[in-house]
Amino acid sequence: MNAIEAERLRRRIDAKTDKQAGGHWIWTAHADSSGHPVISIGNKPRQARRVAYELAHGTVPAGMVVTAICGVPACVNPGHLEAVTRSQADTRRKASSLSTTGVRGVTWRKDRNCYLVAIRINGRRHRKSGFHTIEEAARYIQTMRNQ
Ligand SMILES: [Zn+2]
Repeated sequence: MNAIEAERLRRRIDAKTDKQAGGHWIWTAHADSSGHPVISIGNKPRQARRVAYELAHGTVPAGMVVTAICGVPACVNPGHLEAVTRSQADTRRKASSLSTTGVRGVTWRKDRNCYLVAIRINGRRHRKSGFHTIEEAARYIQTMRNQ
């Protein structure tokens, strides 16, 4: 893909997403039966998350799949996408059915438009709300665990 094609594709993706609080880029165009965004390129359907990932980070390594770390299936924000192995993707899917994001201990509070962290470290519970991005919430957990 040359630079002009890449830019055109970036604009198409941009036009089909609804950028929400929390940083999610919610796909508003066609999705497959599992709710995963689909974009047609040269009349061929492709996984939009994979395309968005490749535009931002380069080719997905062979055998890897692209998942949304935020746990929102319709999200195509390249910052929320990660290339992982199938088994990592399965583990993440299980984790995200427990919270609402792919990051353990982090849930999205739709009513407050922010992320909530609820974790237990050495038997002590920690709760903190008000994170605007999943990265911020994940960083907070990292800091708490390192203390
Ligand atoms: Zn997201």
